[in-house]
Amino acid sequence: METQALKYPAIRNYVAGQPIDTPAAALLDVFSPLSGAVISAMPLSSAADLDTAVKAAQAAFPAWSATPIKERVQIFYRYKTLLERDMKVLADLVREENGKTFDEARAEVEKAVELTEFACSLPQLVQGEFLEVSKGVEARAERKPLGVVASIAPFNFPNMVPHWTIPNALVLGNCMILKPSEKVPLSAVKIAELLKEAGLPNGVLNVVNGDKTIVEAICDHPDIQAVSFVGSTPIAKTVYIRATSNLKRCVALGGAKNHLIVLPDAHPEMTASNVAASMSGCAGQRCMAGSTMVGVGSIDHIVSKLVEEARKIVVGQNLGSVISREAKERIERYITEAEAAGAKVLLDGRGAVVPGHKDGYYVGATVIDYVTPDMAIAKEEVFGPVLAILRTKSLDEALAIENANPYGNAAAVFTQSGSHARYVMDHASAGMIGVNIGVPVPREPFSFGGWNESKFGACDITGKSSIEFWTQLKKTTTKWNPESRVNWMS
Ligand code: NAD
Repeated sequence: METQALKYPAIRNYVAGQPIDTPAAALLDVFSPLSGAVISAMPLSSAADLDTAVKAAQAAFPAWSATPIKERVQIFYRYKTLLERDMKVLADLVREENGKTFDEARAEVEKAVELTEFACSLPQLVQGEFLEVSKGVEARAERKPLGVVASIAPFNFPNMVPHWTIPNALVLGNCMILKPSEKVPLSAVKIAELLKEAGLPNGVLNVVNGDKTIVEAICDHPDIQAVSFVGSTPIAKTVYIRATSNLKRCVALGGAKNHLIVLPDAHPEMTASNVAASMSGCAGQRCMAGSTMVGVGSIDHIVSKLVEEARKIVVGQNLGSVISREAKERIERYITEAEAAGAKVLLDGRGAVVPGHKDGYYVGATVIDYVTPDMAIAKEEVFGPVLAILRTKSLDEALAIENANPYGNAAAVFTQSGSHARYVMDHASAGMIGVNIGVPVPREPFSFGGWNESKFGACDITGKSSIEFWTQLKKTTTKWNPESRVNWMS
């Protein structure tokens, strides 16, 4: 009865092409971080609910995997046009459940379109190989799907991160269980509905809502062949260990602490606006956020421009909310502790309130200078619109700070010097490097994935590298010439 008053009806799992009830599941409130209001509810599904979805995926797999890839891909051409048709609806959902600005939410859906476009190019990339290995003996290798696979998503990109996995895995012939974050379950429902509208056969994509119980059940389920995970490092690690100890393939992307190294010769205006956007975009809640700037030598002229830029970032206008009250408190605690330890707060976003939304979870853009490497704010993932500035005398000292960090998602350098840029490209210990770019996301067909504690597993999650993850090679050797007496090997 209570759920009738909710803005969005209570979420249901999506199995075999339709929403299904999970009568035994407790419901969890879904909040909009923009206002703090409860907007929906979602089921805390059980391992048995997961099993129902896995059975649906297994049932769909034989026909789906036997469908030629050129036919499978037609569904995703149609799906792309549906994403474009419903862009505003999808962006509104992201905004409401995650708290982004509308422009950020829309950019996230545009990225989902790009990911879908890449999946549409897969028939051109998975042609396989063929060679006459002896007289009249032919060997060929082709990529085959794995079967039922799973994708576990975080809260910070409710639409884009599911698109890191769904289009590629499905076009390559797999059937999938998607487990969205319990904080942002609304977008996944719409994704499943649009795929059905595009013609995806029932059971090829199934959505199971829940918390860690479902993640653990995915890692343990004997009929799931591969698990992709995106979330924080401690959970990525446990998921990777649990899934692989159950002999599954796993790629698990974790958290990040990205360093933006700024040299005195950097273009001041471009650097300031780039760094400000990198630290504050999506309220700093992205694994590509430049949360730590390492200034080498005299960079005061760039810092003052940066603060000017950051002042233009206003909560409720071009800066959205953070995900929860706990997140707001955690972020503000990092700022307070750094200040108490001697850092200088140049711009203070603590206590930010958006008129008319006093219960929303907001933190204003914050810039803190003279942070030292031992402070928690310099070492840990803050995940808020906060920039910690460290000062060093040399580029090597800056790189040592970057290298010492256990994460390795992204790093960037701002300079006009090609040789300094090259030096950072060679020596930063991160999977994605930016030169005069604060958010160096590799666009398709390049693949997305960090190093060190930012990713566990061999492949990247998107782009060409993901083909390896979602397929296995079948090698066939044939001989049709009985007169050949070559019987040892081929
Ligand atoms: P999270 O680790 O809390 O949750 C991710 C998923 O794991 C969710 O689906 C959640 O239900 C599940 N989960 C939560 N606790 C669990 C537990 N104890 N056992 C098993 N499963 C559990 O992450 P989040 O807060 O939703 O997302 C933010 C984090 O994700 C940040 O650390 C961010 O850097 C990271 N992230 C990384 C990338 C990347 O590409 N490396 C991309 C996006 C987000």
